[in-house]
Formats: sequence, structure tokens, C-alpha cells
Amino acid sequence: MTKNPLDYVRPNILALAPYSTARDEFKGGDISVWLDANESPYDNGVNRYPDPHQYQLKQYIARLKGVCPERIFVGGAGSDEAIDLVYRIFCCPSEDNVVAISPSYGVYSVAAAINDVEYREVQLLSDFSLPVDGLLNAADQRTKVIWICSPNNPTANAFPRADIARVAEAFDGIVVVDEAYVDFSEHGSMLDLLDSYPNVIVLQTFSKAWGLASLRLGMAFACEEVAALFAKVKYPYNVNGPTQLKITEYIAGDDITEHVAEIICERDTLAAALRSLPFVCEVFPSDANFLLVKVDSPDEVYDYLLANGVIVRNRSRLPACEGCLRVTIGTPQENRRVMSLLKKFSKK
Ligand SMILES: *Cc1c(COP(=O)(O)O)cnc(C)c1O
Repeated sequence: MTKNPLDYVRPNILALAPYSTARDEFKGGDISVWLDANESPYDNGVNRYPDPHQYQLKQYIARLKGVCPERIFVGGAGSDEAIDLVYRIFCCPSEDNVVAISPSYGVYSVAAAINDVEYREVQLLSDFSLPVDGLLNAADQRTKVIWICSPNNPTANAFPRADIARVAEAFDGIVVVDEAYVDFSEHGSMLDLLDSYPNVIVLQTFSKAWGLASLRLGMAFACEEVAALFAKVKYPYNVNGPTQLKITEYIAGDDITEHVAEIICERDTLAAALRSLPFVCEVFPSDANFLLVKVDSPDEVYDYLLANGVIVRNRSRLPACEGCLRVTIGTPQENRRVMSLLKKFSKK
């Protein structure tokens, strides 16, 4: 089935004439006096509006990811901005629905509720593998989007490319693959699926492996037509100037390979150490920078760590995550501290 992603777009969005900023209308030239945008003339470094098209930033990201700039959206509220835009572009409130795996990242369902879009959850299979048929069966005529988080938060596993491709192939709608943790995964990115499947959108972020969570920069990669819709619907100046500049500097100057390698190594060491503790029932395989750990009494372990100044995420009340804590991989020193605390807990 060849798909035209524009078939899934809300009619009002297709018809939308975007807001035109002062800087949109400016087409280049030798300007030394800027009196077009009602800015303050006093230079404090941030008195001018930033580039609404993030031209330079997208050049850097394009080179980094091997994707042309026309296929890139960047959001200044992290990936969450792209997630919300997916709803606003494709889903008619109170009419359309989306399908998502469960358990998964909580923002998909909150953003669905905000946009008044029905959110249909399909449980992962018992080994946390992707329920390809379940996802497809849960979809109907009004299903516009299927959400797949890979590596998945909180189960930590990445799904095989072939499974994701099967969903993209068979589903008559948009498939979003959220790759926030892709840098920690051996499976690699699904970005190349964009070439075969115009209905796929891939999300990535600078918040995790790049260590830039505070700058709030998320990315969506899509076919040019869909990327153009993101550009049309986003807030005009959605990425602030200092963030645009900082991210280009980090891309140009920072190599994250060493940190990523250390985190992967620490993750595997910590997983093995945790497995040796008597109250640990299971440490699930991880393709991310965190471990999902099933323990005998999660609330007790959680409170004990908290009392000792260590906070982890208690996921034990999520369906299919009963008994589970989610532990982010820290520095080697932090991980050793967690392990020595937990060894003492097991002797209590
Ligand atoms: C952390 C995370 C993100 C990133 O969110 P930002 O808003 O970019 O910081 C996206 N998706 C998942 C599944 C995450 O866990």
C-alpha cells in the first residue's frame, strides 16, 4: 500500500495559512538597522527574536543525523512539543483515536487527553515484545496514530526493526517511533525507515545521551510534507536563541561516545550486581540508560533509598510493572553507592 501522509491530516490544518513573522518576510539583504519586529534596540545578547526556522541548527542536526534539513523539526519544549504537535496535526478532537503500547511513556496519553483524543492501549507481550497484531487489531477507521517507544520507557527494551516495519507497512495512518534512548541501544535508529515509509515519524531528543535536558531541545524526523506541517503548526519562535546557539556548539564541539560507552558499561555492571541480591527478582535487559528492576517489596526499597538520599522511580503501580523500580544509570561513583546501599538493605 503506498501511503500519502497528507491523507491523515486534519482538514483545518491542511487548509491553515501559517502566521508570518517579521523575520519570515525578510528575504535577506544588507540590513544594519532592524526596525521591523518591535524589539528593543539595546544589545544585551538576547534582545532580538531568534530564527523562527532554526536554519543553522538544522544544518548541524542534518549533518549529525544524516537527514536533510527539510525533514527535520526541532521543538523548544523537548520531545513533548513534537508529541503534542502530532495530535494537533493529525487528530480531530473527540473524533479520532490513537493506539499505543502499554506500559510506555506517560506523555502520549496526557497529550491525548489534552487534545480530547481517545487513547487505546495495547499491552506488550509477556516478554515485553511488540504486539504487532494487537496494535493493528486495535486500530480502526478513526485511528490516526500508533505510538511506539523504542527503546521503551519504562521496560528498557528496543523492538526489532522488522516488527516496527511491519506496523508501518500494514497500518493506514501515522506511526511514531520515539527514540529518546536510541544512543544506548545496539539496535540502532529507525531513521532509515523514513525512506521506505512516508507515514513514519521518528522522535529523538538532546535530553538523554547528549546531557542537555535543561536546554529542552527535541527533534522529529519525517518526510518533507509532514515536516512542513510541523513547521506550519508550531509556535513561530518555538526554540529560543540561546538554545539554538548552545546546541550547535555542543554538536560541533562535543563527542558523546565516551559518556555513552561508560553508561552502557556501567549499566551492564550494575545489572549483574543487582541480579546477585536476594530481594531482586529480575533485572530486565536494557537498551537504554536505565534499568527496570523487579524486587520483592518495591515500596520498602524505594523508601530505604530515599532515606539515604537516593531517588529512583517507583513504577510498581504500573500494569505489567508490578514490583518494579526504574533506576537511571549514574556516574560510576553513584552506581557504586546505590549498590553498597542495596547490599546493606539485603542484610536488614
Ligand atoms: C525522556 C524521554 C523523552 C525526552 O523528553 P524531552 O521532552 O525531549 O526531554 C522522550 N520520550 C521518552 C520516552 C522519554 O523517556
